[in-house]
Order: sequence, then C-alpha cells, then structure tokens
Amino acid sequence: MAGETAEDDREGASFAARLMHAWRVVRGASANANSATVTAAARPAAALHPQAALIEALIEGLHEAAIVLDREGRVVAFNDEAVSIAPALRHGEPALISLRTPELVDAIRRAGKRREPQRVEFFERVPTDRWFEAFVTPVKPPGERAGDLVLLTFNDLTPLRRVEEMRADFIANASHELRTPLAALLGFIETLQGPAKNDTTARDKFLGIMQTQATRMARLIDDLLSLSRIELNAHLQPSTPVELAPIVRQVVDGLMTLARDRGVDINVAAEPDALVVLAERDELIRALENLVENALKYGAAGKRVDITLARGQTRAGAPEARITVRDFGPGIAPEHLPRLTERFYRVDVSDSRAQGGTGLGLALVKHVLNRHGGRLSIESTLGAGAAFTMHLPLSSAELRAAQ
Ligand code: ADP
Repeated sequence: MAGETAEDDREGASFAARLMHAWRVVRGASANANSATVTAAARPAAALHPQAALIEALIEGLHEAAIVLDREGRVVAFNDEAVSIAPALRHGEPALISLRTPELVDAIRRAGKRREPQRVEFFERVPTDRWFEAFVTPVKPPGERAGDLVLLTFNDLTPLRRVEEMRADFIANASHELRTPLAALLGFIETLQGPAKNDTTARDKFLGIMQTQATRMARLIDDLLSLSRIELNAHLQPSTPVELAPIVRQVVDGLMTLARDRGVDINVAAEPDALVVLAERDELIRALENLVENALKYGAAGKRVDITLARGQTRAGAPEARITVRDFGPGIAPEHLPRLTERFYRVDVSDSRAQGGTGLGLALVKHVLNRHGGRLSIESTLGAGAAFTMHLPLSSAELRAAQ
C-alpha cells in the first residue's frame, strides 16, 4: 500500500495479530493454553488505562456514539449511545467481540497500522436495517505512558439514507407516471401523421384520447407542484381563522356535476355552531375536494356519500374539528390502509388511472393536515364503504368563544 513504511507494516501486523489473538481467546479457541491472556482480556477499564474514568465521562458528553480502545483493541470506555449500536460492549474486552462488522474491524486495523484517521460506512440488518458511518481516530496522549488509544465515533446515517431512497423512488415513480401518457401521446401523433392521416373519424377519436392523456399529465404536474409547495411550507403554521362549514359547502357545490354523473347523492350534516380553525383556506379546500372526489369515484356503487362536520377531541383531549367523508362503496382491504397516503400508492392502478387518478391525492391530504397540526384517519370495512376523517385543531379564538 502506497505511503506505508516497513515499520508501519510491522506495527499494523502486530496490532492485527493482537486483535485476532484476543478474538480467538474470547471465542475459546485457545482458552486453555492462554488462560493468563483471558484474564488480561477481561481486565477492568481502569486497569487498561489510568484515565479510563475521565475518558468515559468526556465521551458521555458527546451526542454521537463513541468507544475508546487501547492499542490492543480492548474497550477502555464507551457511552450510552454506543450500547445501542453494540449492545455486547464490555470494559476490558476485545472490541472484536461486540464490533463484528468486517468493514469496521478493518478500519480499526488500518487506523492502528497507519496511525491515520479512517472513515468507514457500514450497514447492519439486526435488529433493523441501519446505516452508519464510523470515524476511527488514533489518539496519542502526550507524555502518556499508558500508550496510544483509538477513538471510534459513529453517526447514524439511516434517516439520511431513507430520505435518499424515498427521493430516488419518488423520481422513478413520477417519471414513470409521466412517461405513460407521454408515450400514448407520441403514439397517436405518429399515427395521425402516418396511417390515419386522412381518416377524419380516427382523427376525432384520437384527438379525444390525446386530450385525456394531456389532461392527466397536467393534473399530475399540478399535484406534484402542490405537494412540493405544501412541503416547502410545512414548517409554517397557518394563522388565518377559517370557518369550516362554508368550505364544505363550496367543495360540495363544486363536485355536484360529478356526483350527478355518477348517480351519487351527497348528504351534509354540520354542527350548528361555527367551527373555526387556523388554516390556509385553499389547501383545506384542495384536501377536502380530494376526499369527496375519491368517494364519488371509488365509492360510487354505494350511491350515497355522507359528509359530517363535527366537534371532537384529540387523543390528548384537546378540542378539534372533524370533517368525515363516508361512502358506501366497495371499501378498502385492511392491508392497504396504512399505505394509502404514500405517494403513488394505489389499491388498483388501472382503476385509479381509469378514474383520472394520480395516486397523489391522499399524500396531499396528509401533508395539508400535517401542516395544519392535524391528521387524517381512515376506517374501512371491505364491502361496506370507507370513511376518511380530517382532524384539525380548533383555533384558540374558537376555544375562547367555546369557553
Ligand atoms: P388517486 O389519484 O389514485 O385517486 P389517492 O391518493 O387519492 O390517489 O388514493 C389512493 C388510492 O386509494 C386510490 O387509487 C384508491 O385505490 C384508494 N381509495 C381512495 N379513496 C377510496 C375510497 N373512498 N374507496 C375505495 N378506495 C379508495
């Protein structure tokens, strides 16, 4: 390896050999022949390093997991966070017992050998999938006779990786959703330029399909933009008092034509008192529109949609407003319920497409409600319809009035 001296090699080799030896000893491979070493390996931390208590107190103050080893790879100190990564950590024992990840063991070996900090990423499957980065830093305490130490610190990369995965999935899904109607459009354009050039009947038919596909693309882009706008503002709590009954009326009025087309009656039952929440009016309208539209599209077979606006209580006992949209259609199987608000998740993709769906509606509803400090709850029994409830905290002005 470039830059390494023969001395480095010797030191590294002996460090690795000591580590391997300790490992074998602990695993019992040579327990009888090396009983003296076993005792040494299990020595308490204070015996390993005179400053062990101080070192442990210092790393206890760190936010990330940290472990300190002596030159022979035995654990001198560790903090509570380190236990969540390596539950088997014991003072005085070889680190190899608790840190079994090959990449990490290798990095410790390299740090000991080259006397240079090492960075390594590794992945653990048990108990759950987690990604970490570890920094392995050789430390040479000045004038310290007890010898060099190795400091290991860890960062949990799992949340970052999950976001990266989600972003990649999202881009793949969004491109796929856009590519399908785009391919249809291109196909029809080609047909109209070629074989169907002079066929007026075919042209009218194709133009109709092309319009549907283009509308679908526009709707998808519209939903994507709305989602990203809501996410951008997620940290800004809306502050305008908005009364809910007029919103329900506006949404129902706007969807009357669709209800008539589908042969569905919409019944509205609202609390007599005004319910006021702090909200972004347009976002609430958009969210409720999605729920009512879904009920009309997917639950049309039930011929009836009930919308109720009522006062309720959060799980913590705080007052909230609830808007429930209930349909009496085919309902949703329980295994789908937890995933319905994921972007692009659909129970039946072709059914959703046939209804002009984008698979983003419920994700949008969830994000709108999160931003308003509320939540979406979904109840459904297969064959008996579905109920989607928007829970919104009542504004403090409303609370004062109620009191
Ligand atoms: P889409 O654009 O596909 O309607 P949504 O996010 O609004 O996307 O809904 C996701 C999926 O949830 C739908 O594709 C559909 O399978 C299911 N769904 C939503 N509302 C209902 C409902 N009222 N009854 C049955 N299934 C529903």
